[in-house]
Formats: sequence, C-alpha cells, structure tokens
Amino acid sequence: MAAFKTLDDIDIANKRVLVRLDLNVPVQDGAVTDATRIERSVKTLEDLSEKGARVILLSHFGRPKGERKPDLSLRVVLPALNEALGATVGFADDCIGDQARQAVDALAPSGFLLLENTRFHTGEEKNDPAFVKALAELGDVYVNDAFSAAHRAHASSEGLAHVLPAAAGRAMEKELKALAQALEDPERPVVAIVGGAKVSTKLDLLGNLLEKVDYIVIGGGMANTFLAAKGVNVGASLCEHDLADKAREIMAAADAKNVGIILPNDAVVAREFKAMTDSETVDVNNVGADQMILDVGPSTLVTISGRIESANTVVWNGPLGAFEIPPFDTGTNTAALQVAMLTKIGELVSVAGGGDTVAALNNAGATKDFSYVSTAGGAFLEWLEGKELPGVKALSAD
Ligand code: AMP
Repeated sequence: MAAFKTLDDIDIANKRVLVRLDLNVPVQDGAVTDATRIERSVKTLEDLSEKGARVILLSHFGRPKGERKPDLSLRVVLPALNEALGATVGFADDCIGDQARQAVDALAPSGFLLLENTRFHTGEEKNDPAFVKALAELGDVYVNDAFSAAHRAHASSEGLAHVLPAAAGRAMEKELKALAQALEDPERPVVAIVGGAKVSTKLDLLGNLLEKVDYIVIGGGMANTFLAAKGVNVGASLCEHDLADKAREIMAAADAKNVGIILPNDAVVAREFKAMTDSETVDVNNVGADQMILDVGPSTLVTISGRIESANTVVWNGPLGAFEIPPFDTGTNTAALQVAMLTKIGELVSVAGGGDTVAALNNAGATKDFSYVSTAGGAFLEWLEGKELPGVKALSAD
C-alpha cells in the first residue's frame, strides 16, 4: 500500500475541514438501528474539533440518483450523530451552493455541520469536476474516513482528494493498517477462511487469495461446488454444478502454488432448511439424495482447528454453514471463537469482513476479540479481490 497522510500530517487548526463519512447506516421507522459506522468515526471528528477545525460532514445516503428525495434526507441520522459525539451537529439542506456556504460561514471553530445527501446531485456519482469544485469551495482540507465508500470513484469519495490537501481519518487509517497487516505484509502462515453461499460471487476473491495465503479453508454452500467438482454426490445441497470446471481450475492452481485447500470431509445434513429440524452428521461421501449439507461436521472442524492453531494470520470472509438457523451455526461459531481466543492472547492477527460475515461473527459472540472486523461490505470484498480502491488510491496520490 502506498503511503497516505493522516490527521497527524496536515495542518487543520482553524481550517474548514470537509470530512467524508459513511452515514449510509441502516434506518427503520425514522431511527438509526446500527450506529457502528458512526461510532467508528467519532475519534476522527473529536480529533479535528479538538484542534479547532470547523468540521463539515459529507456523506451519501441511499440511492436518490441525483434527485432530491425527502425520504433520503440525511437529517434522519442527526440524532444518532449527536448522541455518538455528545455534541450538537448543525445541518444544511444542500451540500453545495448558497445554503451550504451560509451554514459553513456561520460555523464556529470546533463546531460540526452535516451537509445534505451528496447523491441529491448527479455530479456526485459522475465525479463531475464542476460538482467537485462546488464542494471544494466549502473547505480548505479534505479528510476521508469512509473506507466503505472507497471502492467508488465519486466526487466526495475520490474527486475531492485531488483538489484539496487530503488525509485519511482515524477509522480509515485503522482499517488500512489492519488490512495491510493481514494480506500485504502478514506474519505467515496465513490461513484464509472462506464460506458463504456461492462460488460464483467469490471467484476473484479466491484468485487473489491464492497469490497471498498459505491455506484456504472452504466452507459454506460454496464448498459443495468444490466437493461436487471432485465427484462427491452432494444430494440436494446448494451447489453450482456449472462451476465444476472453475472449481477444478482453482484447486489445480492452488496445487501449483503450494497453497493448501481444506474442504469438508464430513457435514451436518438435513432435509429441510429450517431451525432445529432433524439433522445428522455424515461423511461427505454419504449425503442422501434428499439431504442438504448445511454445516461442516466435527471431523472437519478438528482439521480447521489445527490450521487455525498453527496460523499467525487469519483472514475470514463468509460463514461455514447456514448460521442463521441453529444448529447450523455450530461450525462458524466454533471456528470463530477459536480465532477470537487466539487473537485475544496475542497468538494471531485476525481480520474479517464482507457480506454476512459481520452478522455471523456477531452471532458467534466473536467480533470483539478479532483484531479487526470490517463493516465495509463491498469495499472490503474488492480489497480481498486485490482491486485498487479509488478512494484509497487518491489519498496516496502525492
Ligand atoms: P455470502 O453472502 O456469500 O457470504 O453467503 C452467506 C449465506 O450463505 C448465509 O445466508 C448462509 O446461510 C449461506 N450458507 C452458508 N452455508 C450454506 C450451506 N451449506 N447451504 C446453504 N446456504 C449456506
């Protein structure tokens, strides 16, 4: 990763600082239901305020597609923002133009102002230079604290970094350092644990991991595709039979690169996809025609546990089974708690994220002891796929 500036490297006292956050948080009945992303950026906002900056917040919210849609106003996050900060954040009904300018002019040093949804303007997603300029007129410095939006080259997530002095916020800094520690400069052996429903959504990710890690543990529905490609009859399991050739290619590439692939050798199977339905543990070669593999079995977990035990770094994406319906969360929970425990005692660096991973690790009660659990979703997956994120690249441009 190229070097990037942080809040320690730029002069912000008395400056108007445009801070890109990801306030695209889940909302139900007019209230924020999960403020994790807001909470992770509090340190950035406090640091800026303590240094006397005038802190101006930018974010997208939903997909208004360039139209002013009242139900996608960022006003809805103000109470959660005020609570997380323990301060009152002002609000301007537009993110550019006279209204925004007047609100910024009225902002006292150390004060906070949230500007309306950047996606109310078509220029945001187009990264239109005129829109970038209109935003840039409101600030002296740009801070990006929204890793989760960094896979998009939009005006507020990328364009601004080219026209104002730019730095990473504290949450962005922490995430980039954790990711670098996991895949760019990791302590080996590195074990990747990859689960989830389908191989088709994870081809690029597996391709990149083959270049970077020592072992790949494959679980979840996607393991069925690999087992089927090896001639195992997976019965009624979720399986992408049309990807058998791809799965064989991945296994051959792993062999050539000396990357160990660990597939389940036993499984917990059931006839129905529902909680507490009748289930049994079988060898993967004995799955009945009407049975579905819904979790890895105990013998597989012993193998996985051995790999985790000998690892110095674990990268995790995707559950090992249908974790939403007990008891098929057992495999995910057991492995996650082991990773968490070894991380807690300093034996492991563990980084996880993407898709349902956060929910699966929360369900296991393992999140707090991982080194880093990313809430970035799509951006985390693109990073796992080895793609360069434009919002990050722009920060390290000079
Ligand atoms: P993903 O978003 O690709 O990480 O997939 C997560 C989803 O995969 C979760 O909803 C799990 O219930 C599902 N899943 C994991 N293992 C299996 C399995 N063996 N059969 C069916 N679905 C599974």
